[in-house]
Amino acid sequence: MTDAAHMPGTMPNAYQPGKGNLSKADQDLVARRQRALGPAYRLFYETPVHLVRGEGVWLYDKGGRAYLDTYNNVASVGHCHPHVVAAMARQAGVLASHTRYLHEGVLAYAERLLGHFPAELSHVMFTCTGSEANDLAFRIARAHTGGTGFIVTENAYHGVTYAIAGMSPSLGSGVDLGEHVRVVPAPRTGGETGAEFAAGVLTAIRDMQRHGIKPAALIVDTVFSSDGVFADPAGFLAPAVAAIRAAGGLFIADEVQPGFGRTGAAMWGFQRHNVLPDMVSLGKPMGNGYPVAGLVMQPRVIEVFGAKARYFNTFGGNAVAAATAMAVLEVIEGEGLQANCAKVGAAFAEGLRGLAKGHAALGELRAVGLFLGQDIVDGEARPDAARAGWIVNRLREEGVLISATGPKGHVLKIRPPMVFSVENVAFFLDRLERVLKAG
Ligand code: PMP
Repeated sequence: MTDAAHMPGTMPNAYQPGKGNLSKADQDLVARRQRALGPAYRLFYETPVHLVRGEGVWLYDKGGRAYLDTYNNVASVGHCHPHVVAAMARQAGVLASHTRYLHEGVLAYAERLLGHFPAELSHVMFTCTGSEANDLAFRIARAHTGGTGFIVTENAYHGVTYAIAGMSPSLGSGVDLGEHVRVVPAPRTGGETGAEFAAGVLTAIRDMQRHGIKPAALIVDTVFSSDGVFADPAGFLAPAVAAIRAAGGLFIADEVQPGFGRTGAAMWGFQRHNVLPDMVSLGKPMGNGYPVAGLVMQPRVIEVFGAKARYFNTFGGNAVAAATAMAVLEVIEGEGLQANCAKVGAAFAEGLRGLAKGHAALGELRAVGLFLGQDIVDGEARPDAARAGWIVNRLREEGVLISATGPKGHVLKIRPPMVFSVENVAFFLDRLERVLKAG
């Protein structure tokens, strides 16, 4: 089995020039991208999709064809939600300033956001991207602990800055890990998940200490999305968190993927595990497409950093970002989207399990709220990345957008906007069944 995701520069489900069925106009666009954007970008799908418009759970291509968006957790309250767009436009028409002037907006949002956290997590600092939030967490953890060692899971993704790309093994062997970064096995289903995961963390801590490295933090995506989605049993994170704390390190919950209600059970993924992080990074769904992200923390961890360094992020927490993010929270609360994730996610999982009875290619399903990881396996129940890629591309042809993930690239990653309905689930299952029957 090729470990596709770990090869330099690869990504499951990436466009490969010469394959697919592109129109002449889109071939020209691909060539223009290559010329203008250079060689580091990747496109999704054998035949890339040329999107021009989005509304709710639907995306539309240039020819007017609708695609069911079962993948994009950024537009979490639905593409172009009118309440969010109106708030963004209104504020952009009044004042677009930064956090070095007094402004009510950023404070009102900060207070409302912090109201969704346990009382101990009572400061928030704003950034524009999840990468920046994790980079800030990296600096704060070093300042607070005096340590330099970081622990991440084997196929983690945490972002694009130099330090954080070095903590993102899913970028593949072409991107070096940081010298003081240790990689631990991702959780696995069955057995003693919590004890096993903690044992990996403990081994990493001992290895650091043997090399004279003081641990600074364990950082995990609390649903382990790029590792293939591991959410159960709830609570399994606790022993690993205890292990890093006992070694003097911090626990950073990366909520860029699961945060803002997607798991259904809670607003944040860490809450399902009954752990209290020292810091929590936020991003993607926070602005429903507007670039706003942040880092929430316990006050004691920012004391040293705050005394030594000043923090200013030109666009982080600007007035438009605050107004937009506030509107997103209002929609999540007002439309009951967390509860919707629980309800529709349960129907989704049930539907997939039903389909799996007649299709051996559907292996283990791991799901929490509207975050689902469906293993695709061969006749002998082994990971089958080629088939997963085939399914992803056929679904795209059927008007459904998803992708594949995991260290072996064989996990269908299903993560729709939180406004997804049971009718949308039925549409997805119908198209998936059609694809599975065809191949
Ligand atoms: N953490 C996780 C878990 C992510 O999935 C991502 C983005 N895919 C990031 C951090 C980085 O966020 P951004 O792309 O906004 O920098």
